Amino acid sequence: MKKSNSSLPPIALWVCSQCGNTEPTKTIICASCKSQEIEIKRSKGLGSVVASTIIRRPSAACLFEGPVCLCVVKLDEKVVVSGHFHESRLIETGTRVRAFETQNDVPIFTDTVKK
Ligand SMILES: [Zn+2]
Repeated sequence: MKKSNSSLPPIALWVCSQCGNTEPTKTIICASCKSQEIEIKRSKGLGSVVASTIIRRPSAACLFEGPVCLCVVKLDEKVVVSGHFHESRLIETGTRVRAFETQNDVPIFTDTVKK
């Protein structure tokens, strides 16, 4: 499994320099104001769980061995991303989480959030 050694928070965000619209995936034109001045910023990696589920038998093409907890997280930057929880158990909706690394470009979240 490929781990990121970067000390930066692991989630990239594409932010419009003109209106501040933020997207979780690569974009070259702002969906809100059509500006092409897009900056890549790093999310703080903090957010709240929107949903989670356990994948017990990932497909053969999956780079992760099961079971894995797939979670959907609304970041504090108001964008929704998917990732994995660091333990193979369900995590309650609304739980505060922090991305602490990436594996195969997937953010890995923990519920150990520093106040
Ligand atoms: Zn814009």
